[in-house]
Amino acid sequence: MDFTDRVRRVEPSATLAVSNLANELEAEGKDVIDLSVGEPDFDTPQNVKDAAENALEAGETGYTSSNGIPELREAIASKLRGDGIDYEAGNVIVTPGAKQALFETFQALVDDGDEVALLDPAWVSYEAMAKIAGAELNRVDLSPHDFQLEPALDELADAVSEDTELLVVNSPSNPTGSVYSREAMESVRDLAVEHDITVISDEIYQHINYGREHVSLAALDGMFERTVTINGFSKAYAMTGWRLGYLAGPEELIDQAGKVHSHSVSSATNFVQHGGVEAIENTDEAVEEMVEAFESRKERLLELFAEHGTDVPEPDGAFYVMVPVDGDGEARSASESSSGGEPRDQQWCQDALKDAHVATVPGSAFGTPGYARISYAASTERLEEAVERLAEEGYL
Ligand code: PMP
Repeated sequence: MDFTDRVRRVEPSATLAVSNLANELEAEGKDVIDLSVGEPDFDTPQNVKDAAENALEAGETGYTSSNGIPELREAIASKLRGDGIDYEAGNVIVTPGAKQALFETFQALVDDGDEVALLDPAWVSYEAMAKIAGAELNRVDLSPHDFQLEPALDELADAVSEDTELLVVNSPSNPTGSVYSREAMESVRDLAVEHDITVISDEIYQHINYGREHVSLAALDGMFERTVTINGFSKAYAMTGWRLGYLAGPEELIDQAGKVHSHSVSSATNFVQHGGVEAIENTDEAVEEMVEAFESRKERLLELFAEHGTDVPEPDGAFYVMVPVDGDGEARSASESSSGGEPRDQQWCQDALKDAHVATVPGSAFGTPGYARISYAASTERLEEAVERLAEEGYL
C-alpha cells in the first residue's frame, strides 16, 4: 500500500513503548503500578449510568441530529454561560470525546503550511492533529518557568506573529497540572488580537482544580469570535469510555467543523448523550468528592518526593505531576531540569518500569525531555508503594 504523507508525518504514540512493556511484565505475572494513564480511577456516578440506561430502555438507540441532542447542547451552552461565555445551543457540537472535537477543529482551521503554536510540555495529540492537518509547529517551552505561563509571556510574544494561525492553550494542563492566571490569559488575548490568531482553549480539566480561578479564554473581551472552547466528560465525571465531549465557538466555526463532524462520526452515541445531560446537571457532589481525593493524593505524593529529596513543581489542577529525571537512574532537582535536553527520560521510564515495575510517561512525549509524567489517578496506597519502589531501586 502507498500511504499518505499526512499519516506518515505522525509517529505512533511515545507512550506505546511504555504500555507495551507494562503489558509484557503483567503477562509475566509482575505487579505493575501503572501511573501512565490519563484516566480517573473512579467509576462513573450512578445517576449518570441510570440516565443512560433509562434512555437505552426508552429506545434512544438511533442516530441523533449530527451536532447533538437539543437537551445536551442546551445544557452545555447553559454551563458555558455560567463560565461567562455567551454561547447558545447553536454554538455547540457534541462529539464522541474531546479528542474528536479537537480533531474537527484542526481540520476546519489549519491548512497545509499554517503555523500552530503550542505551549510545551503539551498533550501528545495536539502535535499529531496539527501535523495531520499539515501544520508547521512553533513551540514555546514553559519548563524553565516551572510550567507557568506568566513568566514565559515574553517568549510567547517573540514566538507568535501574523503567520501564526492557531495557538493551543490547555489550562489546567496535561501533563503539568498548571492552571494559568487571569493575567496570563489576558496577555494571551492581547497577542491573539494583535496578530489575529485563533485560540483553542482546551478546558477538559476545568473541574479538577485545587482552588485556583479557572479562566475561560472565550469569556475575555475580544475573544468570543476567535476562540474554540473544548471540553468533555472523561475527566470530571470519570466517563473516559463513554466517549463524550464537545467544541463550542462562533456559528461560522460550527458550520465548518460540523461538516467534518457529520461526514466522519455522524453524531455522538444517542443514549450516551442522555447520560451527558445528567452529568452536567446533577453531579456536583460526586465531582467534589473526586477532586478532594485527587488533591489529597497530590499532597501525599509531593510529600513523598520531598522526603526523597526530589523537588517537583506543584500542580494546581488535573491529576499529573512532572518529575525531573535523567537517564542515569536518578531524579533531578527541578532547578536543574531546564539545562537538560537529552531525551534520556525515555530510558529512565523504561528502566523504572523494568526494575521498579512503575509505569510513567517520558516528558519527551510532550515535547519536554528530562521529565517523567506521573498520573496520580491511583489509590494513595499504590502511590506510596510506587514511590517506595522507585526509591529502593535508586530512581529517586
Ligand atoms: N485534551 C486533553 C488535554 C486530554 O488530556 C485529553 C485526554 N487525555 C483529551 C483532550 C481528550 O479527552 P477525551 O477524548 O477522552 O474526551
